[in-house]
Amino acid sequence: MRDCINNIICRFTGGLAALLVLWSVVFMQAPVNAAEVEAVRLWQAPDHTRLVFDLSGGISYNIFNLDNPDRVVIDIANSTMRTDFSGLDYSDSPIRSIRSSIRDGNDLRVVLDLKSRVDHSNFTLGANGEFRDRLVMDLYDPQGTDVTTTRTVPTARQSDKRDLLVAVVAGHGGEDPGAPSFNRQFWEKDVTLSISRAIEDRLRLTPGYTPVMIRKGDYSLDLKSRPIIARDKRVDIYISIHADSYRGSSVQGVTIYALSGETADRENIRRIEQKENRADLLGGIAGDTRISDVDDDLAFTLLDLSMAWSMEQSVELGTQVLASLDGVARLRKSKVQGGNLWELRSPDIPSILIETGYLSNPSEARKLASTGYQNKLADAIVQGVKNYFYENPPDGTLVAWQKENGIVPESYVVKRGDSLSRIAQRFRVSLNQLKLANSLRGNVIQIGQTLTIPGEAGMSRSSEHRITRGETLSGIAQRYRVSLASLRRVNNINGDKIMVGQVLKIPAS
Ligand SMILES: [Zn+2]
Repeated sequence: MRDCINNIICRFTGGLAALLVLWSVVFMQAPVNAAEVEAVRLWQAPDHTRLVFDLSGGISYNIFNLDNPDRVVIDIANSTMRTDFSGLDYSDSPIRSIRSSIRDGNDLRVVLDLKSRVDHSNFTLGANGEFRDRLVMDLYDPQGTDVTTTRTVPTARQSDKRDLLVAVVAGHGGEDPGAPSFNRQFWEKDVTLSISRAIEDRLRLTPGYTPVMIRKGDYSLDLKSRPIIARDKRVDIYISIHADSYRGSSVQGVTIYALSGETADRENIRRIEQKENRADLLGGIAGDTRISDVDDDLAFTLLDLSMAWSMEQSVELGTQVLASLDGVARLRKSKVQGGNLWELRSPDIPSILIETGYLSNPSEARKLASTGYQNKLADAIVQGVKNYFYENPPDGTLVAWQKENGIVPESYVVKRGDSLSRIAQRFRVSLNQLKLANSLRGNVIQIGQTLTIPGEAGMSRSSEHRITRGETLSGIAQRYRVSLASLRRVNNINGDKIMVGQVLKIPAS
């Protein structure tokens, strides 16, 4: 993991080697050297249990079922156990007990006694970096306990406006730990889960939003299944949280990736694509997400349009989040980077991947591991999401309804290029009210500064408005949340005719 590119190559060749070993076993019965089982680990996912056997080398093996009672038998040729199963907690798994024995002098047999017969699958992974050769076995829960059916449906809100569903995806997990910290004390999977949980907490407390956690604990999810779960939940956006690592310790900062047709930093993209997509090997599932049923021109055109929309929105979402993070975190890239990542290929869901920083950089790694900084990042990411949706609220959502009714977000984080007057205009409050609410004397604001946006109380004070080009009387009335009639009355206007530069009195609403 020290060197990503080498690591990828290692892992790919490792995976290939493992595949070749498997092929040779099945088709050529080639002799394989002795390998010991050095450790056995167990991970509990919502719909399956994963057993990982850490091996001292490549193996020749065979797995089969036995009935009465239900068992799964794993025969490993020319092998011994150098560990036992006493440290495994399989109480919530389909496994009742695990035992092993030596057969025919030097073959190892591991038997999983099951509570009931279950589907299972297996694959091997070659050694690379800190990982040894591995045999991975997935036991699927009986009755197909589906992750997608266990989540709660968002509750109907007042006035039937739906919540925005935000998929929060903690990168890596289980036996795929992601990048190590510089001192190897912690892993990317832990940092991503903590930040994701902090985001979840904040979204849960925000009216109009419901977080959908795609990974809730320390287990791995197949890379391709994550967007599918998200789509089944009909999420509005998809945010994947990661932390990076690089050779050398100096590189630091946040990078945000979005599916994009734009060219981006080539080397960077290739590296990240390989790094994230290679997790497919860990998932071990060969399925392709090709749209095989779609074959007529119309369907392709629709998909194309949808993809273009999703790409554009992804970049916009990424830009908002990046702007929010600016000042809170160091930015490695000040623009959203285009990526062709598996996770970001949803044609209908704006999707971004946030590399929150570099675990290979000691000071950034320490920050990323601290609750305080995780919370700050979560605050900024959620603020960026809220800013994005305030600009682009989907029809029928509470946020769209709030915007139509002039209910503004209670706070706003200053972005690059903002000015106080532009912020005031954007949230339809007067400059004075904005300054008053934030105890500002001048017009100086700083990137990353959080401003309170005055709500109803601030709006009840009467004020003045100088008309600028393009404004209409009804627009001004809407902006100050006053009726058109009262606006006409206090300004002695009969029709709708106003002039640029004219100063209007704004009545108390
Ligand atoms: Zn990652």
